[in-house]
Amino acid sequence: MPNQTAPPPDDAQLLRLLFDRLAADHGKTAEDALAQWRTNVVAIDKFVHEQRIMTLPDPLTLIVDLSPAFFVGQSVGGVYPPGPFAPNAKTILFLPTPSRDATPQQREAFFRDFNEHFNKMIVPHELIPGHYVQFKIAAHQPHKIRAVFPDPLYVEGWGTFCERIYRPHDRRYPRPHRKHVARGSRALRHE
Ligand SMILES: [Zn+2]
Repeated sequence: MPNQTAPPPDDAQLLRLLFDRLAADHGKTAEDALAQWRTNVVAIDKFVHEQRIMTLPDPLTLIVDLSPAFFVGQSVGGVYPPGPFAPNAKTILFLPTPSRDATPQQREAFFRDFNEHFNKMIVPHELIPGHYVQFKIAAHQPHKIRAVFPDPLYVEGWGTFCERIYRPHDRRYPRPHRKHVARGSRALRHE
C-alpha cells in the first residue's frame, strides 16, 4: 500500500498535483468571477498606494465587467483602453466567460483555468500597475504616432514585470529575488 502522504517521485507529478489543487478553488458562475475581480482590483489599488510601488494616474477610471454577448464562447476578454484622442475616457476590462450552451464539464474546465489564484495573480499584470496603468499613461503620450502604434513587446514585457513587482511582498518567494525586484520598483515612483 503506497504512503498517501509521500510526495510524488518527480517534479512534473508534484507540479500537476499542485496545479490541480489550485484549480479546485473557483466560483461557480461568471458573476462569482466578476465579484472576485472587482474585489481584487480594490485590493491591488490600495496595496500599490500603501506600499508606494509606483505613482498611479489617479483617480481610477476603470470599468470591470463581463464580456458582451458577441464575445462569449471564444473565451475572449481583455483590457480596452482609451485611445490617444480621448485619453481621459474610461478603460474597460472585459472578463471572458463560458458560453451559455457549454456543458457542465466545459464550464468546470473554464472555471478551473480562471480559478481564484489565477484571478488574483493576473490583476497586477492586466490592470494595476500593469496594462491599465500603462495604457492610461500612454494615452497621454504627446507624440501621437507613438501613441497610435504601441510596441507589443514592451506592452507584454511591462505586464510580466508587474507580476514580479508584486513578489517582494509575497513571502513565498526567496529573499534575494524579492530584494532584486524591489530595487526595480523604486524607479517607478515620482518622489
Ligand atoms: Zn498582457
